[in-house]
Amino acid sequence: MTDPRNHLKERACLRVDAHRERLTSLSSRIHATPELNFEEEQAAAWLTDFLEGCGLRVERGAFGLKTGFAAHAGSGGPKIAILCEYDALPGIGHACGHNIIAAAGAGAGVALASILAETGGSVVVLGTPAEEGGGGKILMAREGAFDGIDAAMMIHPAGVDMPGMNVLAVSQLQIEYKGRGAHAAAFPQRGINALDAMVTAYSAIAQLRQHIRPNERIHGIITDGGQAANIVPERSAGVFMVRAATAPRLEQLKERVLGCFRAGAEATGAELQVRPMVEDYSDMWTNSPLVTAYGANADRIGRGLLQPSPLTDAFAGSTDMGNVSKLVPSIHPMIAVAPPYVPLHSVEFARWTASEHADRAVIDGAKMLAMTAIDVLCDNDLRSAMRAAFEAQRSSAG
Ligand SMILES: [Zn+2]
Ligand SMILES: [Zn+2]
Repeated sequence: MTDPRNHLKERACLRVDAHRERLTSLSSRIHATPELNFEEEQAAAWLTDFLEGCGLRVERGAFGLKTGFAAHAGSGGPKIAILCEYDALPGIGHACGHNIIAAAGAGAGVALASILAETGGSVVVLGTPAEEGGGGKILMAREGAFDGIDAAMMIHPAGVDMPGMNVLAVSQLQIEYKGRGAHAAAFPQRGINALDAMVTAYSAIAQLRQHIRPNERIHGIITDGGQAANIVPERSAGVFMVRAATAPRLEQLKERVLGCFRAGAEATGAELQVRPMVEDYSDMWTNSPLVTAYGANADRIGRGLLQPSPLTDAFAGSTDMGNVSKLVPSIHPMIAVAPPYVPLHSVEFARWTASEHADRAVIDGAKMLAMTAIDVLCDNDLRSAMRAAFEAQRSSAG
């Protein structure tokens, strides 16, 4: 007997195809109108209008965020969250391709809405602002966005098709030193040089980098180094990011980095202030049964997934989807829109995220997400396996 899911999947895919023009137009419009963290008003408006027009029950400004939204279909039963990101990067626009995530997520939501009467269960398309440094998903989670969700999923553009990103936990720190200004020629002895403090810390971090694990990262910029060359800088400031494979490893590395900053204060007498800019982004627990189901659906439409290798490891980054993955079974697969050598967050990648490849990724991404959601909605055993895998990850993390 053929699997009754096949018929549902075919119908969901036809539904995506029927919306092809509208979905690729959503993607290109969002690409052409880049909006930064928490300012994604246009993108949120276009997406919610589209979803509402297709019959979903739309909540604008959902879970405490002005540019967040929740679009619901169905009720009761297993509940799937499909996540849409739509924020851009300062200066380089949609160089992370969140326009594709948004349009593919919306397409999946609309396709699923059309078959829920048969599968039972429910779907919520969540508009999650400010992935690039604002932690929108973390803020929405605090307001209950993932309560009662059985599976959360999204796709992210990349240079290859693969089951997930090499997600590193990250901490983003605002650093400030306060010293004492003085005329640099007349009274240097009266000054406390806040820039020296920062430079000492910066050099100490450069030395520390030789003695950390290969997948750990520390990087930052100095945003304030004083006002004039002949005044001892009374203030310096910077933004630094620390990344590690897991949240506990991140804590250890952060402590060593803070030691470097304290060294700057100690050496100069400047006062150090460290402020986390956003809650730490966690590493990611990719749910293995769920990603296996996704892989089979990728095969179905001729997008084989690259298995973990040095090439896939190179796609390292951080996402607030990591935090979601610690609340509910989640996946964050990557979909190819560019050649493998084009890095995310580059001007070149921003060109690929508005291309024929990008449009194909919107359509294929919507189909793969919808088909995987159908598996979850229809397959009790899959849901139990997902839950068991999630609990196993939770207990091995202690
Ligand atoms: Zn990004
Ligand atoms: Zn991204």
